[in-house]
Amino acid sequence: MTQAEATPPTGKRVLLAKPRGYCAGVDRAVQTVEEALRLYGAPIYVRKEIVHNKHVVRTLEAEGAIFVEENEEVPEGATVIFSAHGVAPEVYEQARARSLKAIDATCPLVTKVHQEAKRFAAEDYDILLIGHEGHEEVIGTAGEAPEHIQLVDGPDGADKVTVRDPSKVVWLSQTTLSVDETLETVARLKTRLPLLQSPPSDDICYATSNRQHVVKEIAPECDVVLVVGSRNSSNSVRLVEVALDAGARAGHLVDFATEIDDAWLEGARTVGLTSGASVPDELVQDVLAHLAARGFADVEEVVTANERLTFSLPQELKRDMKAAAAAARA
Ligand code: SF4
Repeated sequence: MTQAEATPPTGKRVLLAKPRGYCAGVDRAVQTVEEALRLYGAPIYVRKEIVHNKHVVRTLEAEGAIFVEENEEVPEGATVIFSAHGVAPEVYEQARARSLKAIDATCPLVTKVHQEAKRFAAEDYDILLIGHEGHEEVIGTAGEAPEHIQLVDGPDGADKVTVRDPSKVVWLSQTTLSVDETLETVARLKTRLPLLQSPPSDDICYATSNRQHVVKEIAPECDVVLVVGSRNSSNSVRLVEVALDAGARAGHLVDFATEIDDAWLEGARTVGLTSGASVPDELVQDVLAHLAARGFADVEEVVTANERLTFSLPQELKRDMKAAAAAARA
């Protein structure tokens, strides 16, 4: 169904968004760490949070993953996994210099943006990268061609851009932005740069767009929208903003059900619920149980898309898994 149905006679209800939670890139990244732990044994080093979710990081830590900020914290010769957000080329070089065994869990949809950046830089374009300053994905993408890329952080950032040749400019973006705000930024850029070219295909990924789309559907009917996700998760933070822009009376981001303040539910009849792309569904189920205990037992799932995309594990890991399986058979 695409439309929420009428409020049930009991009054209180939950509109549960679908799609929500894990995307193909996050699933692959988490599986990469799990498989690496199985194959090589603990510890496995992971540069940055593999995905931006507290629960996922804590769970993998308990299984033997060690999260570090930079390659220099990894002992020489050890295995390091690069997170789903992608890294700049210099990070691979650092890993080589320390003889690290690097496994790249960058989401293929982030890699696609890296390839676009490299291609346009090779053609000597000025590249306007729409994204959030300091976000790991933006640092990684900008690192592909720092001399060609300028960051545009939101619509106001569009006014500060300067380019060499207004007929040779392209915009690219971070994969997890608000679709609507990005369109606004592009419109602002185009008032100054009418010949600005668009990316060859959407840079904002399917998972980000789908999760925003369903939240827009339910938000107008919601007294409060709860988004399960961590504060450093760009796509989760955007979901709260999108819900509020689309008419939800209130919106909150929580990592866990225990963070829900009962005051948020006072007087509410309809609660919207969704989760960011790095959130395992067990955390959403915890929130549903929490809400049911407070009278919100009627749950209606509002579905606007069915996602079937999956990504295979990184080549370097698959190769070692195959070799290990062959050795076990011999
Ligand atoms: S949110 Fe999109 S870009 Fe990021 S990991 Fe998921 S699919 Fe890939």
